Amino acid sequence: MHDHIARVLITEAEIEVGISRVAGELTDRFGGRDLTLVAILKGSFVFVADLIRRLPVPLRVAFVWAESYREGTAPGALDLFWTAREDEIAGRSVLVVDDILDSGRTLAAVRRECFARGAAEVHTCVFLDKPERRAVEFIPDFACFEIEDVFVVGYGLDHAGRYRNLPYVAALKPEFLASSAVAPRGARP
Ligand code: 5GP
Ligand code: MG
Repeated sequence: MHDHIARVLITEAEIEVGISRVAGELTDRFGGRDLTLVAILKGSFVFVADLIRRLPVPLRVAFVWAESYREGTAPGALDLFWTAREDEIAGRSVLVVDDILDSGRTLAAVRRECFARGAAEVHTCVFLDKPERRAVEFIPDFACFEIEDVFVVGYGLDHAGRYRNLPYVAALKPEFLASSAVAPRGARP
């Protein structure tokens, strides 16, 4: 698996520093409040697990599954599957957490839906932010790292379902990006 990596962008030690900084910012902001953290699956599960253990704040965790029908590394249509109970969102301070903010469509849709479900306030926190890629206007309230416009894997982020278990954030060698990408309809022999 490690030999599929072209370049490590963020090391384990750097991840630790970035998450501790954001955990401090969140603690300052939400100190005494009863927060609902809405984790967007699947990609955010590693980040959320590390983040919440650094938050000495009363909180509960809810999940929403975001399925974007991406062809290879390009985003497509988006479906949201909620597992959160109504009383976990309605009337509450919500912090939506995702692995990476790219076009902004996923977080914008989840934030809209949290308000539609009666959230009192909705904040957003991402592990990675790729500001160059934004298709809808979106600025996260909290972000651990800004990265350049490159497709990354590791620390929860996958390519075709793999690499989530890498402990760092990295770019794949081009041959591994291409080999498991879904070919556009009609492009197969
Ligand atoms: P957005 O809706 O902001 O375009 O995309 C957010 C989702 O796209 C993320 O939750 C993630 O699943 C996926 N995504 C965007 N950029 C990357 C990337 O560089 N690597 C991986 N593995 N997933 C990405
Ligand atoms: Mg995702």
